[in-house]
Amino acid sequence: MLTTPRKFTATNLKECEVILLDVGGTLKKGNQLLPGAVDLIQELIRLRKPYYIVSNTTEVSELQLAEELRELGLHVKDEHVFTANTATLHYCKKKEWKRVTLLGTKKQAALYNEQGLEVMPIGDSTADGIIVSQDPTLTYEALTAITRQIANGTPYIATNTDPLSFGENGPSPDTGATIGFIGVATGVEPQAVTGKPSSLLVELVAEHAEVPVRRMGMIGDQLNVDIKMAHRSGLVSALVLSGNSTHSEAESSKYRPDYIVEDVGRLIPLLS
Ligand SMILES: [Mg+2]
Repeated sequence: MLTTPRKFTATNLKECEVILLDVGGTLKKGNQLLPGAVDLIQELIRLRKPYYIVSNTTEVSELQLAEELRELGLHVKDEHVFTANTATLHYCKKKEWKRVTLLGTKKQAALYNEQGLEVMPIGDSTADGIIVSQDPTLTYEALTAITRQIANGTPYIATNTDPLSFGENGPSPDTGATIGFIGVATGVEPQAVTGKPSSLLVELVAEHAEVPVRRMGMIGDQLNVDIKMAHRSGLVSALVLSGNSTHSEAESSKYRPDYIVEDVGRLIPLLS
């Protein structure tokens, strides 16, 4: 009997076997769910289309983020949440980094320690590498110590390159801004970026879901983060305007999404 050959690359959302979902600006803003979030998840469940959360947050663990989303009313499985921390820990393991210094939060340091990655005091010369992340208590002293470590040859990675993060009270400088500072001071760029728009998270999800990368679709609100990642990995992409991008920015961006919609609810009819 003749069978239809399995197309390797999905060209629209309907053909995607797995959907990747951003969180902030896509499913929720602050502690509020965005329009269509509940309906979209319900539809994905009805269609038996696996969905994965891919977030650049480093503030919480995968389990905490899953719990947070469930408390808001979204059905999310623990093992379907991938964050910049997931990718960072994976990267450090691959590089055999056992001791690191971290520009990040205490929570993040505790998470890494729990996973067997020892977080040393900033400036410690025995660290295998440096992880640069968003640190709301960042001081000039810490930046000086990190600058010296990097100048002395310690490799560094960044969890993302987002210039800003958007909270309830407005934007704050994010990891991209810190990388800019370090880059000007040392002339050294991070040897890897682990979160979006790097393709590392996409590859980890594809491996977990056991689907080829190009059979997945990405839904997110940031052109230079979510849609850029989709472009790099060859995924179908949908931009929602419920977050931090406008229609005209999307039209003129070099990372043009396949779909531009007001909110995730508008994607429901396009899934089947
Ligand atoms: Mg977002």
